[in-house]
Amino acid sequence: MTGSGLRRPESVSILGCRVDRVDSQGAAACIDELIERGSSAQVVTLGAEMANLAYSDRTYRDIINAADLVVPDTVGIVFAARLMGTPLPERVAGVDLLERVCASASRSQYPVFLLGGAPGVADAAANALTQRHPGLRIAGAEHGYFDDAHAAEVCERIRASGARLLFAGLGFPRQERFIYDNRAPLAPCVCIGVGGSFDVIAGRLPRAPAAIRGAGLEWLYRLAREPRRLRRQLALPVFAMRALRQSLSARVGAAQPQVK
Ligand code: UDP
Repeated sequence: MTGSGLRRPESVSILGCRVDRVDSQGAAACIDELIERGSSAQVVTLGAEMANLAYSDRTYRDIINAADLVVPDTVGIVFAARLMGTPLPERVAGVDLLERVCASASRSQYPVFLLGGAPGVADAAANALTQRHPGLRIAGAEHGYFDDAHAAEVCERIRASGARLLFAGLGFPRQERFIYDNRAPLAPCVCIGVGGSFDVIAGRLPRAPAAIRGAGLEWLYRLAREPRRLRRQLALPVFAMRALRQSLSARVGAAQPQVK
């Protein structure tokens, strides 16, 4: 059980980060359950770059491991889990999860708040979502370029909006820290970190075509569209090496005779 009363799914460990063994449908069902319970909860959409940061940043790792649900946002996480002999059902991309949860929220009428992106992006994403999911109640939408000193005021606006679901697209690690630090003032609210999803939903950034996503090359597509990502994507080979090392040491450990 998590602190919010959710029966925690089975999980695997990638570089010390817990990742829950759920598919997209299962993840959305967990989120629905959390909202229905009136829980205050944190959902992490874990990418390889995040796991790599968490490897050397204990505080960030603890935040991820304390979340109520951690889903594998990128192909790197799914690949690493397979390498370790603990496969995950599928990639649960944050942007797809957001759409799925909004479809459900439009039926249940839980109000949704969008926080993040450059000025105007969250509003444009909210418009696009209400067109795709008629009946979706948008409690509010705000950009994500506020000073940390103003976080309390931002939280107060979210709380006063009556939102039961918060999508925080502030980029990592800011979004995970923001949600973790503000769980109490935001309560009761299920908060999901969604990275740059608003940019995609608002049409500011194109999503990689399905064939490229299917081939596991979305990272390369994004790099070609946004060359400034090169610096942070240098973390990917480091992540791959660390995952390989974790898988080798797990195999060596498993091969050791069991001393009774
Ligand atoms: N962002 C924000 N506030 C900040 C820093 C970033 O709202 O202080 C937004 C940024 O505009 C973008 C998102 O956070 O919409 C991060 O996108 P990125 O592509 O880095 O995330 P990813 O999807 O790769 O995790």
